[in-house]
Order: sequence, then C-alpha cells, then structure tokens
Amino acid sequence: MKILTESEKNFLMESIRDVPDFPKPGIIFKDITTLLNDKNAYKMLMDHLAARYEDAALDFVAGIESRGFIFGAALASRLGIGFVPIRKKGKLPAATIAEKYALEYGFDEVEIHIDAFGGKKGAKVLLIDDLIATGGTAAAAAKLIRDAGGECVEACFVINLAFLGGVEKLSGIAPHYSVLEVR
Ligand code: AMP
Repeated sequence: MKILTESEKNFLMESIRDVPDFPKPGIIFKDITTLLNDKNAYKMLMDHLAARYEDAALDFVAGIESRGFIFGAALASRLGIGFVPIRKKGKLPAATIAEKYALEYGFDEVEIHIDAFGGKKGAKVLLIDDLIATGGTAAAAAKLIRDAGGECVEACFVINLAFLGGVEKLSGIAPHYSVLEVR
C-alpha cells in the first residue's frame, strides 16, 4: 500500500486520540498511543511506510525524541537498516553536534552523535517524527543530519498540523511527506 486510500487515512486518523488542553490550555494534543495499541492501525501505518521507502536505498532512519523513536526504530528494522536517535540536549553519551531552535518562548536544542552515520559521507537518511507543528524541531533535526555528514532525503511525519505551516521551515533543507494532514 504505497498510497493510502481516503478511507484508510480516515481509519488512521480516527485511531489517534485528541486530548484537549495538554500540555497547556488551548493545545489539542494528538495522542498516538491509541494508534500504537490498535494492532490494525499500527500495522497499516508501518506497512505503508515500509512500502513507501523500501526502494529508496536508504542507509539510516533518524527518529526525533521521543515518539519519532517508536516509528523510526520499527521502520528501520523493517527496512533492514540502522536507526539513529536525535535527542534533546544532554541525553546522548558520546561526542555530539547540537542545533538550537526557537520555541514560542525561549529556545530548545537537539543533538546527534558526531559518528551517527559511521563515517559514511553522504549517507542517505530518512528523518521521522510523529507530528510536525511549527516545524522548528524537524528543521533543526534535518540540519543535524547534514552536519553529521548525511543527506536528509525526506522528512516524514505521521501527522502534519498543516494550519501551522511548519513544513515551510524545511524548505531548502529537505523534502517532506506526511501520512495525515490536519487542516
Ligand atoms: P514543532 O517543533 O512545533 O514542529 O513541534 C514538533 C514536536 O512537538 C514533535 O516532536 C511533536 O511530537 C510535538 N508536538 C507539537 N505539537 C503537538 C500536538 N499538538 N500533539 C502532539 N505532539 C505535538
């Protein structure tokens, strides 16, 4: 299933729970734990992602902490390639490169191990996260892949909150794909 039908997309969307006012008032949190614990939804999503990327000759999947780890590690295993974690500052134990990005109030920072791609220059890397909102996290993560010597061939999200326009932050950095769009 390289391309999902509208009814398959609706099924996946309905498997994701909306939690209003989490983590703060006014935010509708897209809770993917209800997709993960629905075996049919989880399988449909992973089958779709595996079909989309099986012929992409990827070297690595890089996932953004923490929900990007769940989809990214499962996908890397399905594709028979390595997985690379992109983590919040201070969590990775060996030598890292860091990238700061602006939040609504203040800054956050993500890191990757310098040797994440095993010295393979131009490694083809798929970036994955559960959701893109304002796009700051994904843009910083895609820059880290580049700075660690990889090529971010696509940034993939289960959900794009399209009304926030976050994918624009990826323009000129990496192409993007979202399984589901919230308009
Ligand atoms: P952003 O940098 O604004 O694109 O935020 C993306 C990151 O924040 C992702 O790692 C998401 O998991 C998380 N996130 C932001 N907004 C939401 C939301 N409404 N529901 C669930 N996760 C969110």
